[in-house]
Amino acid sequence: MAHPVCSSCGSPDVAADAYAEWDRSKESWVLQNVFDKGAFCNDCGGETSLEWEDD
Ligand SMILES: [Zn+2]
Repeated sequence: MAHPVCSSCGSPDVAADAYAEWDRSKESWVLQNVFDKGAFCNDCGGETSLEWEDD
């Protein structure tokens, strides 16, 4: 498996723009699509791009 990291600082504490749909049977949000653009790094405190790193 791989996980996304911030391309600027390498932090794994990142978020991504995504589209979620409510699943009534699971009673939770299910991600339908995660967008490549619009990533956010909590360590940088701003927008970034993501790179994928092996676990
Ligand atoms: Zn960062």
